[in-house]
Amino acid sequence: MSCDHLVCARCAGPVEEGRCPQCRAIRDRMHHSGGLAGLSPLLLAAALLLLLMFALAMHAQF
Ligand SMILES: [Zn+2]
Repeated sequence: MSCDHLVCARCAGPVEEGRCPQCRAIRDRMHHSGGLAGLSPLLLAAALLLLLMFALAMHAQF
């Protein structure tokens, strides 16, 4: 997801140019949500599930 064509509601300029603090905030949020930050909750859930399965496997062995 890109914010190339997003227009800021505060300064009416392209968000990608970051003319005002709101532009920069939106740009940061867009880039974060499209990057690793948007993926991390899923990774966290997967890691938790893996840990749970590991714990169950260990428990079954004893
Ligand atoms: Zn702006």
